[in-house]
Amino acid sequence: MLKIGEEERGLSPFELAEPRSLREALALLGADGVRPLSGGTALMLMMKAGVLRPTRLVNLRRLGIDQIERGNGGELRVGAMTTLRALEKSPLLKEWPVIARTLRTLSNVRVRNVATVGGHLAHGDPHMDLPPLLSALGATVTIAGPKGERTTPVEALYAGYLETTLARNELITQLLVPAMGARRAAYLKCTTRSADDWPALGVAVVLDGRKTSIVVSAATDRPTRLASVEAAEGLRIESDLHGSAQYKKQLLRVYLARAIHEARHASH
Ligand SMILES: Cc1cc2nc3c(=O)[nH]c(=O)nc-3n(C[C@H](O)[C@H](O)[C@H](O)COP(=O)(O)OP(=O)(O)OC[C@H]3O[C@@H](n4cnc5c(N)ncnc54)[C@H](O)[C@@H]3O)c2cc1C
Repeated sequence: MLKIGEEERGLSPFELAEPRSLREALALLGADGVRPLSGGTALMLMMKAGVLRPTRLVNLRRLGIDQIERGNGGELRVGAMTTLRALEKSPLLKEWPVIARTLRTLSNVRVRNVATVGGHLAHGDPHMDLPPLLSALGATVTIAGPKGERTTPVEALYAGYLETTLARNELITQLLVPAMGARRAAYLKCTTRSADDWPALGVAVVLDGRKTSIVVSAATDRPTRLASVEAAEGLRIESDLHGSAQYKKQLLRVYLARAIHEARHASH
């Protein structure tokens, strides 16, 4: 176990564990102050800001959970340690072009080269781009814990701002995205600075015959499904650094219509 720390630069000392199996990793989790580490792009910023002061990080990089495959049911299976960039570049995304399009405006290549699918889904920041899209696509995650595995919809992972429904001793190990079939989808993010900035609003729309799935993010404290287009008017919207609630409400009116239009005209 490595000991790391640079207290003089605001990073509290911590131990770094590098387990070589999932079982070993799970055994190291659970206690106060222990956090899993994937790409570290979110975790390290929070540690440097002093928001988190873990005493031990459990690095998941040696667990061998970074494969991207197509399952027997036509679904996309993505290991949690797959980087966002590897996913974006995967030829398998030809069937899910909406995911590749979304990834291309998710931060920048430097972040996507390091950030992982598991870390992205576990972070719980409501401004993240993939959770609303994956929720609208009906994606699920496999979660490993001391009692075995469970599967949960991506949509059910979020409990509030930076709050997830994962227990401290659980790890996301895989993402499963159902086959697109005849579905058509679009994700639009509205940023107030560069196109790849954090969104002020994210809207995912998936059209499946007569069924329309709409999930809104960045304007709400977690990705939120709308029961209908009309429900957008009653949505509780939060103000933040990217815009006031009133501004975001207007953005939602405009972007929801645009996202539905884009989904209708998408090849998938
Ligand atoms: C400059 C910058 C700009 C960004 N812009 C955007 C943007 O526009 N849109 C966007 O969507 N995102 C953006 N991001 C966020 C980026 O997507 C996340 O930082 C990243 O996805 C987190 O992944 P990671 O692998 O680095 O996670 P980590 O930082 O390693 O972990 C994040 C959290 O998840 C926990 N965790 C990690 N792996 C697992 C696991 N397998 N199971 C359970 N818990 C786990 C960690 O303990 C930690 O709490 C930006 C980040 C940066 C640094």
